[in-house]
Amino acid sequence: MVARTLSAAVSHVGRIRANNQDSGYAGAHLFAVADGMGGHAGGDVASAIAIRRIREVDRDFPSAHDAEFALQTALIAANQLITETVFEHHELTGMGTTVSAMIRVGDEIAIAHIGDSRIYRYRDGELTQITNDHTFVQRLVDSGRITPEEAAVHPRRSVLMRVLGDVDAAPEVDTTVMDLQPGDRWLLCSDGLSSYLAEERIRHALASDMDANQVTQRLVKETLDHGAPDNVTVVVMDVPVHEPEEVDDAATTVGSAAAPLTFEASTGRKPIRLPTILLHPLKVTTAPEDSHFEPESDQYFAELIAEDRRRRLRRRVTWTIAVVAAIIAIAAAVLFGYRWTQTLYYVGDDRGQVAIYKGVQEGIGPLTLSHVYEDTDVEVAKLPAYTKQSVKQTINAATLEDAREIVARLRKAEQTGRDQPPVTPRPTASPSPSAVPSITPTATVSAAAAPAPGQEATPRD
Ligand code: CA
Repeated sequence: MVARTLSAAVSHVGRIRANNQDSGYAGAHLFAVADGMGGHAGGDVASAIAIRRIREVDRDFPSAHDAEFALQTALIAANQLITETVFEHHELTGMGTTVSAMIRVGDEIAIAHIGDSRIYRYRDGELTQITNDHTFVQRLVDSGRITPEEAAVHPRRSVLMRVLGDVDAAPEVDTTVMDLQPGDRWLLCSDGLSSYLAEERIRHALASDMDANQVTQRLVKETLDHGAPDNVTVVVMDVPVHEPEEVDDAATTVGSAAAPLTFEASTGRKPIRLPTILLHPLKVTTAPEDSHFEPESDQYFAELIAEDRRRRLRRRVTWTIAVVAAIIAIAAAVLFGYRWTQTLYYVGDDRGQVAIYKGVQEGIGPLTLSHVYEDTDVEVAKLPAYTKQSVKQTINAATLEDAREIVARLRKAEQTGRDQPPVTPRPTASPSPSAVPSITPTATVSAAAAPAPGQEATPRD
């Protein structure tokens, strides 16, 4: 009996793009995703041509290696078709497409791949990327120049080194044959999914109990929830633990391949043209944010490396400037705060004698923010109880004159043995937090705490 598979395919234009240049296919044996490029004119046409040609090999093969060969042949034929189409419709010049396709043959799978669409295998809780991206950033990763994390956000991550299309006359297609296991779940997707949804999210979705159809819907929905800036195409194929008796294996085509092919009317005479690769070896055919093809060249690779180096240098300079600016700002704040504290005075106990201190009583860590400014001959021990207590707690003064006024009253209290207002404990007030962030609020002095010079104090009793 032919092994049946359970599968589903969904393609969505996304939230930003005006048209869907992706195509997808899920059939009885064949599963494929194609992501077209070439700006507004050709990307949808290229992926549609590829999927329509490749789906012709959706059949049962005697061996996985036969299927592998058939797939490879189909991809090369699709490449030829795209080139011929461009020849007849020159407005499509520069179009191309990625293709990731696989054919199930019993407990094996034949795979053919070109571009940056991906095939993942979910098996025993692990997600494995089966295909390698044919992108320049992947080459940078492979050569150890950037990390996969840096590649994921690299501004040139969409630059492809290999595609099907008129841009490359002899594209190199990766093919392989792998084993299948019951319970496997295979995912094919365009970069509209893999570039915007973390692999952990993909793994989590594939791990769910949902069937293939529900999983594809969920993955597309999650991408839409993340903004879906690109077209997104998802194909899921399940290898059931127990092969079902009957499966609805009606083939599903999605994306641009599902719609009739439309070309813009050709204008005027067909030009006699050389292959694009000869005319524009380094030509960028589309906007930078779109996928585009660059022939694999050391020159372009060197350009990317130089660009990365410049970007790193820029980042380092920016960081250095930011750090220096922060250090200067902190130093200025500390200096300003220190100078502010040194405009204040308080009266307190200096080893038994009343003294005028400059600064604030509080310190920052081991740093003392005050020092004895003037000693006096007033002995703390001889002060009446309440006044003595006030001195021990220290008494704020707005100015040096205020401090001297307070000392004068303390002297009077020492002589008379009576408490002399306004000798009050230090009031609590708030300093400007931006000025001295580390100093506690009690450090501040209110000018109202002490009488203005010359102002007569009212006796408390
Ligand atoms: Ca894409």
